[in-house]
Amino acid sequence: MPNQAPTRRQRTTVRNKNLSSLCTELTQLFDQPLPATIYGVRIRKLLGAVRTFGCANLRCEDKVRIDGSHVVLDLEYVSRTYDPSDERRRADAILFVLHELVHLIAQGIGAKQTVRKLRRAGGETSLLHADLCADHIATALLHRLAPQWSLAFLRDVQSMSLTSFPSTDRHTAAARRRKRMRMLALRADFWARRLGLISDRAADGYIYLEHGQGSRRFGDLSVLLQGPPVAVLGTARLGTKEAAALERVTAPSKPLPLSGLDDLLVHALRRLSTPDQHLRPADPPRAALR
Ligand SMILES: [Zn+2]
Repeated sequence: MPNQAPTRRQRTTVRNKNLSSLCTELTQLFDQPLPATIYGVRIRKLLGAVRTFGCANLRCEDKVRIDGSHVVLDLEYVSRTYDPSDERRRADAILFVLHELVHLIAQGIGAKQTVRKLRRAGGETSLLHADLCADHIATALLHRLAPQWSLAFLRDVQSMSLTSFPSTDRHTAAARRRKRMRMLALRADFWARRLGLISDRAADGYIYLEHGQGSRRFGDLSVLLQGPPVAVLGTARLGTKEAAALERVTAPSKPLPLSGLDDLLVHALRRLSTPDQHLRPADPPRAALR
């Protein structure tokens, strides 16, 4: 008999089975003592009462809801992401849930309405850092609850997941830039950990980048650590082609492939000059000049 496409009922059955597996996985993770704080967020106080997870179609574009000790996840996203037989897709779906929980419990942007208002107030940069902070806490928390997954592995999963959501022409220029800068930050954070530029510890905060076209001959790149305090880890000059390539990350058409971004970031991170190298040696004492 020829292979037949699964019927709608079969697809629904597989989806529901997968989602109950995701909820079981989350329930088991939360069955252990939670860390008291992660990156300044009082995780145990805010999420310590959570015991079980379930799925439903949430309204108003909500992604998660907390009902006492029960957390409800919105069906749509998690059903597209989670696959119990694929380790990266398991981690990806769990990271998404934790990211949304951080938005809800600690950042005041659990409701889509608040996000819209922040955008209307011109808060794209604040939103970028709210996302990066939630990404950072989600990876750190999951690493604590499931230590077999290193922070670098979780960063890798998180950044690759963003490639499934490229910008479209319907996004505003500011929203497109935010998506691009988030991808750059997550990918640079992953490589900074892999290359040993920062230790694989949550306490150090997350990495983000600033870059520009500079002159016609070169651009400039700064690699920063969002401490606190915010600190420059190093700077590098970019060739004009490199500076232009960074502008194409997550672009609606002809986006820079991930392999191209990885090559560029690894080369740039390897040739960073640190702030110490920029400090000129102190002027010699006058007596020594005589
Ligand atoms: Zn978010």
